[in-house]
Amino acid sequence: MRTVLAVLLIAFSYVSLADVQGVRLWHAPDSSRLVFDLNTGADHKIFPLSSPNRLVIDIDNSKMLDSLKNLDLDVGPVKKMRWAMRDHKDLRIVLDLREAVDAKSFPLSPNKQYGHRLVVDLVPKSDSFKPLEITQPVIDATQAESMKRDIIVAIDAGHGGEDPGAIGHGGIYEKRVVLAIAKKLEALLKKEKGFTPKLIRTGDYYIGLRERTQKARKSNADLFISIHADAFSSHRASGSSVFALSQRGATSEAARWLADKENSSDLIGGVGGVSLDDKEDLLAGVLLDLSMTASLSVSLDLGQMVLNSMGGVAKLHKRRVEQAGFAVLKSPDIPSLLIETGFLSNPGEARKLKTSSYQSQMAAAIHKGIKRYFMQFPPPGTYLASIKNKSDRIREYVIAPGDTLSVIAQRHSVSMSTLKQLNGLKNSIIRVGQVIKVPAS
Ligand SMILES: [Zn+2]
Repeated sequence: MRTVLAVLLIAFSYVSLADVQGVRLWHAPDSSRLVFDLNTGADHKIFPLSSPNRLVIDIDNSKMLDSLKNLDLDVGPVKKMRWAMRDHKDLRIVLDLREAVDAKSFPLSPNKQYGHRLVVDLVPKSDSFKPLEITQPVIDATQAESMKRDIIVAIDAGHGGEDPGAIGHGGIYEKRVVLAIAKKLEALLKKEKGFTPKLIRTGDYYIGLRERTQKARKSNADLFISIHADAFSSHRASGSSVFALSQRGATSEAARWLADKENSSDLIGGVGGVSLDDKEDLLAGVLLDLSMTASLSVSLDLGQMVLNSMGGVAKLHKRRVEQAGFAVLKSPDIPSLLIETGFLSNPGEARKLKTSSYQSQMAAAIHKGIKRYFMQFPPPGTYLASIKNKSDRIREYVIAPGDTLSVIAQRHSVSMSTLKQLNGLKNSIIRVGQVIKVPAS
């Protein structure tokens, strides 16, 4: 009996010890995140020390089992990481810092991917920001047209960092596939006159769902697109889908399932226990309803064009835009879409989604859909709107002797490039008697 008790006591003291089994470090452009894997929940505290800048992390009843050798300390605020035991039972970790940081820490409870975690976010203090470069552009009349604003497309690659998203056949990670597609879409839109793409996530780190929409708002996005490649409970599920927000019921079983899964992303990636629904209820007024209805109808129309275009490269899961309560789509004033490029749980689609060529085709299809919509319905004040207004009011002009394209452009207060675009001209060569289209002034 005594031996059994002794064994139990030893076992118990092991369980109560919050061993640090692993340490990971993720770098975002403006912050870094340290994640400690613990075998059980533990009390902790953090505090900064200055000259030199350090951050101390104390974890009660803990010991370090990780070698700390796999951390990338070449970039980010952490220069060095060391640890020591205090009173033979508590763990003290000291971060030697390159600069002062604002630090925030919070525990995360276990989920499917991970066990107990302690997260420490490090944000370099703002005084280390570089001063803004101030340039005063000189504008002349012919430039005025190109001064019309671009349509801003916020491209959000789902998941990242701690949150791999779906893991498909052959160990393929959703977070990598969707970042590759997002970057290809960004490159295509960058080349397109009248568009400015804005990548929400640029590398392998996690961003909270609400922060993603906030980043889109900060960049004055006209459109928010979240790219995914999820897994479904059935291996047979396949095809691409486009989702818009539904505040009530989801339009299909898969939509509901995926929305639940995506919305729990913050529990894996970690946003410090912020509830996803904290503000929605407070804001659920008439005003919000109005702008939401407007942006939702844009989302549905635009989504349908993207979906049709994707039908050229992929099998479609559903022919219509589906609706579900994805947290990432809840911007009241920015049309927002969530695109499932395919199912990583389907072996055939996983194989395709892994290849760069298929990722390119997917990006091209999304690009085509976005462009088609905005050519038809450009937001007021944009370059595309100015082109469309002109092409909406067109008359014909017969080239007279002595005319040059630049003189005609000037006379109709339009730029050479618009005139060429309007007429499909590759150069400025015109001949007497030729009929060209000009904007009616
Ligand atoms: Zn996803």
